[in-house]
Amino acid sequence: MSGSDQAEAFLRIDKLIKDFAGQDGSVFRAVDGISLDIHQGEIFALLGPSGCGKTSLLRMLGGFDLPTSGRIMLGGQDQSQLAPYQRPINMMFQSYALFPHLSVWDNIAFGLRREGLPKDQVASRVDAMLKLVQLGKFARRKPHQLSGGQQQRVALARSLAKQPKLLLLDEPLGALDKKLREETQIELVNIIESVGVTCVMVTHDQEEAMAMASRIGVMSEGRILQVGTPREIYETPATRFVADFIGNVNLMDGTLEVDEAAHVEITCPDVRHYVGHGITGHTGMPVTVALRPEKIRISCRPPAQEDDMAPAPFNQVKGRVKDMVYFGSDTLYHLQLPSGAILKVTQSNTERHPDDTLSWDDEAYAWWLPSAHVVLTQ
Ligand code: ATP
Repeated sequence: MSGSDQAEAFLRIDKLIKDFAGQDGSVFRAVDGISLDIHQGEIFALLGPSGCGKTSLLRMLGGFDLPTSGRIMLGGQDQSQLAPYQRPINMMFQSYALFPHLSVWDNIAFGLRREGLPKDQVASRVDAMLKLVQLGKFARRKPHQLSGGQQQRVALARSLAKQPKLLLLDEPLGALDKKLREETQIELVNIIESVGVTCVMVTHDQEEAMAMASRIGVMSEGRILQVGTPREIYETPATRFVADFIGNVNLMDGTLEVDEAAHVEITCPDVRHYVGHGITGHTGMPVTVALRPEKIRISCRPPAQEDDMAPAPFNQVKGRVKDMVYFGSDTLYHLQLPSGAILKVTQSNTERHPDDTLSWDDEAYAWWLPSAHVVLTQ
C-alpha cells in the first residue's frame, strides 16, 4: 500500500477480529480479520446474509462492542478502545429508538442538551436539522403522529444533530414497506450527501445497498469477499457467492475447453459458451459461468446470425417455456433446457403487442453475446 493511500483513508479498519465466547467455553469468531479503507464523504454499505457479522462490525465502529484484536482509525485517531460517547461517531439504530413521550423537536435536541450545548445553539442546530429533513412543520408532534418515513427522518436528524464525523446506519429502512423504502432511500442519500458526512450502513437488502451506497462490501462468515461500486459488484462479481447473492443469476458449471488470450470456450451440460475475453486459468479446469437473466434474449424463432454474436452453436440453446412471471415492466421466463436445468431469462416489455409472444410449454430459443458472461473460478 502506498503512502498516499494511507493518507486518503478517512476510516481505516485494520485486521479487526471479534470473538464471542459460547456458554460451553467454545469461541465463535463473528468478525474474522477484516481490513477496509473508507474514504471521507462516502456511503459504504456492508451487505451480507443474516449472521455474516455485519452488525458486529458496525457495533465495534460505534464502540458498543470492543474488538478482540485489530484497530479502528478515524481521521488518524485510534478509536478502538474508546467508549461510544468518546467517539465522533453516531449510530442510527434500526428501531429508530425515538423517545415516544418527546416531541420531534425535543427528540432531536436530546443529545445536544445532554452534551451541555448552550440553549440558543441547541435551538439553531435543531431548527437547521428540521429544515434539512423537511419536517419543520411537524416539530411539535410526537413520533406516533408521524408516518414511518417521517419517523425515519427524525431519527436521521437526531443522529446528524451532533455533527458526527462518521454516521452508522443499522438497516436504516428495515421498518418501512417497499414503496416507502424506495422513496426514502433517495431522500436519505440526498440528506447525507448534502451534509457530507461519511457513512457506513448495514443491510441484508441488496437493492437498498445498490441504491444508496457509493461502494459495497459483500460479507460472508465474518469476512469481506469483495469491495466495489454497485456496478462492479453486479457486473463483475468475483466469486460464486457474490454472483448468487447480488441479483438474479444463472450459474452453470462447466469445463474450460479452449483458453486463448482474447477468448475462452466453456462446455456446460446444455450449452457451449464462447466468452469474448480471456481468463486466468488452464484448459480442462472446472469453472462456473454466471449469466444474468437480462443479458439473454428469448424468442420462438431461432436467432439470426449477427456480427456481434458468437458463431453457432455457441451461446444459444433451445428449450421449453416452463414458467412465466409478468412483472409489468418485464417478464421472467423459466426455460427448461434438455438436461432439465432451468435457464432464467428476463425480457423487458418495451412493446405493447410483441409479435412473437411466448406462452407456457412453447419451444423457445435463447441466446446471448460473448460479452454477457462472467467466468468464476472460485
Ligand atoms: P443479521 O442480519 O441477522 O443482524 P449480522 O450479519 O448482522 O446478522 P451479527 O449480528 O454480526 O450478524 O452476528 C454474527 C454472528 O455472531 C452470528 O452468528 C451471531 O449469532 C453471533 N453473535 C452476535 N452477537 C453475539 C453475542 N453477543 N454473543 C455470541 N454470539 C454473538
